[in-house]
Amino acid sequence: MNRLLFVLFFFFLLSTLAFAGSGSTQNLESRKNDLYPEILRDEAVARLNELGKVSDAEGYLERTFMSPASVRAGNLIRGWMEDAGLRTWIDQMGNVHGQVDGINASSKAILIGSHLDTVVDAGIFDGSLGVVSAISALKVLNARGELGNLLRPVEVIAFSDEEGVRFQSTFLGSAAVAGILPASALQFSDKSGVTVQEALKENSIQISEENLYNLKYDQDSVWGYVEVHIEQGPVLEWKGVPLSVVKGIAGQTRLKVTVRGSQGHAGTVPMSMRQDPMSAAAELIVLLESLCKRPEDFLSFDDHCKDSTVQSLSTSLVCTVGEISSWPSASNVIPGQVVFTVDIRAIDDMGREAVIYELSNRMYQICDRRSVSCIIERKHDAGAVMCDDELRQQLKFATKSALKKMSDNQFVDEVPVLMSGAGHDAMAISHLTRVGMIFVRCRGGVSHSPEEHVLDDDVWAAGLSVLAFLETHM
Ligand SMILES: [Zn+2]
Repeated sequence: MNRLLFVLFFFFLLSTLAFAGSGSTQNLESRKNDLYPEILRDEAVARLNELGKVSDAEGYLERTFMSPASVRAGNLIRGWMEDAGLRTWIDQMGNVHGQVDGINASSKAILIGSHLDTVVDAGIFDGSLGVVSAISALKVLNARGELGNLLRPVEVIAFSDEEGVRFQSTFLGSAAVAGILPASALQFSDKSGVTVQEALKENSIQISEENLYNLKYDQDSVWGYVEVHIEQGPVLEWKGVPLSVVKGIAGQTRLKVTVRGSQGHAGTVPMSMRQDPMSAAAELIVLLESLCKRPEDFLSFDDHCKDSTVQSLSTSLVCTVGEISSWPSASNVIPGQVVFTVDIRAIDDMGREAVIYELSNRMYQICDRRSVSCIIERKHDAGAVMCDDELRQQLKFATKSALKKMSDNQFVDEVPVLMSGAGHDAMAISHLTRVGMIFVRCRGGVSHSPEEHVLDDDVWAAGLSVLAFLETHM
């Protein structure tokens, strides 16, 4: 009897062990399956490459607002949205939408998007990565039969124009959805005189002022907006991290500085008697660089410029002179006039104002000392856009859990929080709803170039974090 019990116990033990063994293999398998590499990496990368071949130009990538390639790209994206189980449509500004209702079609929707247009001689990830990773994440939920479990509607939007190459006006697509695109934008014309309205009409899209306003989303119908985008800078690569969340998008001011002096013969006017606007411009530009490198040395602390402002400036302020011209621009003439542009960006609007104030004062002093005249004109201003705190926390959780899963639950450092120095659709959409962004590492920080590159595994990480974000809304 005892022997029988022992034998039975022995078999029980064996079968338990075998069961536990197959269980852990299953766990390993299911953990791998949790990562969906075939959808979130392999297919996403293949789609980015395919989209990267949809170009109006031979030999390089160019897709501008409503160009033949843009329309083909939109249709391709629409097909992928349908493949992910989304209901699709193209609106009257050429934006491509794909939506799923979730449990409650009348609750506020999550928008996830980026742009389908490109610059001239572009890379294949700028804009497209945000669209493709969102579709891939939804495709995973569809494959799991879980699209219907989403607590609220989720809508992916591929915006028709962010770069503004064709009409010299950024955000045609997202500004229309946000309701901030003026009706006058329909009459903007491209180099060959074709207006925005005509470009749409050529593609059988009739748009009038009224239906432009109808494109605006109702604020009460939207929960928030999320955008995944390549970083377009070198910080993530330098930190060795594939993803970050974004703190905000920098505000920007563009100045035009005109310096006028006394035009003269390069050989005959003694150095002591010159009023040379070129040398003055050189001093002004070096001043700009010094001020923007060490704003704390230049700005005084008072009510207008608090400690925190100076601190945020020292980490976010960037200033650039990208364009300069002189008149008459001859090697044997002391110029009569030099004109240059200044681009100033910072996350803190008050700090940016303080920099412009200080810069202008010091520039005028230099011009006085050099006996040249200085005119500083403000050509463009855009306020900074801060990402929403709750969304930032959710995206931080999502990116961290994606990175943790990919590293087999090894310890993962805190996900960095970066500022965006470049504008994004999120900027326009911030007029409609709160926004949050994820940045993805790109090689060398290079973008707007065919050299733009994102590792396959980083594409995977991007898709996995959108998936993790959506899972928190189920
Ligand atoms: Zn972009």
